[in-house]
Amino acid sequence: MASIFTKIISGEIPSYKIAEDENYFAFLDINPNAKGHTLVIPKREENKLFDLSKEEYDGLMSFSYRVAKAIEKTIPCKRVGMSVIGLEVPHVHVHLIPLNAMSDIQFIEKVKLSSEEFVALAEGISTNFQ
Ligand code: AMP
Repeated sequence: MASIFTKIISGEIPSYKIAEDENYFAFLDINPNAKGHTLVIPKREENKLFDLSKEEYDGLMSFSYRVAKAIEKTIPCKRVGMSVIGLEVPHVHVHLIPLNAMSDIQFIEKVKLSSEEFVALAEGISTNFQ
């Protein structure tokens, strides 16, 4: 069965999209740790990060680098943190999180955003994506 993220790539499930290319896709996390919390995924569905081929892994990291640069340009923060967990959704995803405090990377405190705020954040990061 297709993962929820595969359904996001196909458009079956809506998302606040930031960027995509042939192999990778970036969109806002729907339950963010902080404003601008973004997920970057390979389009090919794979459960675990280190089950990707070396080439796919490198491609995912390169794409995440570009997304992180766009986040830094858009969201005031001390730095962008990166985490890979995958206990909830079995489709590899890199969390890119604007950090101001250690708690921002701890997946405990969440921020509530309106759909207008999600749209504005996705547009802002997308505009800065190169
Ligand atoms: P984990 O698998 O533990 O790394 O966490 C999965 C992440 O996916 C969580 O941060 C969720 O908020 C996020 N998530 C789950 N469903 C969606 C969705 N439909 N759109 C955006 N983010 C999602």
